[in-house]
Amino acid sequence: MEPVIVLVGRPNVGKSTLFNCLTRSRDALVADFPELTRDRQYGRGRIGPCAYIVVDTGGMGQGNGAISEGVQAQARQAIAQADAVLFLVDARSGPTAADEALAGELRAQGKQLFLVPNKVDGLDARVVAADFYTLGLGDPHPIAAAHGTGVARLMASVLQGMTAAVNEVVEPPYRRDTAVERIRVAIVGRPNVGKSTLINRLLGEERVLVHDQPGTTRDSIFIPFERDGFAYTLIDTAGMRRRSRVYEAVEKFSAIKTLQAVTAAQVVILLLDAHESITEQDVRIIGYVLDAGRALVLAVNKWDGLEPSRREQIRRGLERKLGFLDFAKLYFISALYGTGVGLLYGAVQQAYASSCRKLDTPQLNRILTEAVAAHQPPLVRGRRVKLRYAHQGGRNPPVIVIHGNQTARLTSAYRRYLVNIFQRQLGLWGTPIRLELRAGS
Ligand code: GDP
Ligand code: GDP
Repeated sequence: MEPVIVLVGRPNVGKSTLFNCLTRSRDALVADFPELTRDRQYGRGRIGPCAYIVVDTGGMGQGNGAISEGVQAQARQAIAQADAVLFLVDARSGPTAADEALAGELRAQGKQLFLVPNKVDGLDARVVAADFYTLGLGDPHPIAAAHGTGVARLMASVLQGMTAAVNEVVEPPYRRDTAVERIRVAIVGRPNVGKSTLINRLLGEERVLVHDQPGTTRDSIFIPFERDGFAYTLIDTAGMRRRSRVYEAVEKFSAIKTLQAVTAAQVVILLLDAHESITEQDVRIIGYVLDAGRALVLAVNKWDGLEPSRREQIRRGLERKLGFLDFAKLYFISALYGTGVGLLYGAVQQAYASSCRKLDTPQLNRILTEAVAAHQPPLVRGRRVKLRYAHQGGRNPPVIVIHGNQTARLTSAYRRYLVNIFQRQLGLWGTPIRLELRAGS
């Protein structure tokens, strides 16, 4: 599981600026989906081989109204799940009383703590460092988040001690005694949608008990199992064995656990509730899945006990709301009674196979040529964007690279048009496709 890095500090010290800096990635498919907005609080990032999850705690330590108490509870929850806490302070103002109070609180958490004076641009970093030693949090790591200065060095220190500990968790013992390739499947969804019920249904009660991994410090569990000659590892975000009343009260939906599970998975099964419409939380999870470029299976749970006319109504409603996810099929299941659950295996296999498929270059070029002939790219300042040739640039998710002229000016509508055509012509069901446009050759 990816390490969790939590940003803490009073307002205006530059947390969201640093968050953007740490989560900006070429990988983001989300930009192609106007229906989704980027999560500004929970994000994924990567430096070299090290992937991580970043959480911006926003206005922690501020105010005392009900809302900010909620925010604080969330921030504490994030800190409790953190592998490292970056404590941001404003280099221009020097340490304030609020900083000192926060420093005291953070020290008590016993987390690995990095003191990060921000906005050192135009200042003498040594003077700034000297100023902040008084907080008693060790060596300050000065940065200018707005310019990216010092961020790489800071992250090198943060990620250093982490990789060893993280790898232990990523490689659970069962991996060693099996040569089979396992498909890592995460079952995600909001609380009460039926995740635990589905996992129990897929595994049978006993297996959950047998394979619950002791010694993992994370809440999510890796559960190996086989079915019809195929091997899977289920990533359980329901954390059913660990679910405590306190935890439920603090945060009913754990964005961190969901992000970790999505990142660790190859295929994500998103459970939706037939009795409820699509919520903001569902859309947020879809955003995580697309941001990570994971294969996706949509399963509508609690399909039992519904009148046929009601079913038709629900089905049409979902198809309309989820129309933008046209690569993912909808499955209607009852985790409780097992109806339709068997079909999920085929869905997972298909999605996985699509996401790692090797694409034929002549075929890609044929599809591109036909697409362009059927519908020309728009004119930009009187000149037509030219798309010349295509090839595969990666797998899992499939990346299609298109070379041409002025490709940066291609509208998102036209990008969508191309993605749709590739999706349909190649029959790549269950996986998003990433389009990479290159100019100049
Ligand atoms: P947050 O409230 O902690 O999330 O802070 P923001 O990221 O919103 O930043 C607050 C203000 O500080 C914004 O006006 C930023 O442009 C500015 N800021 C952030 N980082 C830097 C920096 O490295 N140098 C300077 N000079 N300003 C910065
Ligand atoms: P989780 O929070 O996502 O893990 O959800 P649970 O698996 O704990 O299920 C929440 C509630 O929904 C429980 O009362 C389940 O019995 C019920 N439930 C789960 N799946 C189904 C289903 O397919 N049909 C019906 N009618 N109820 C279900």
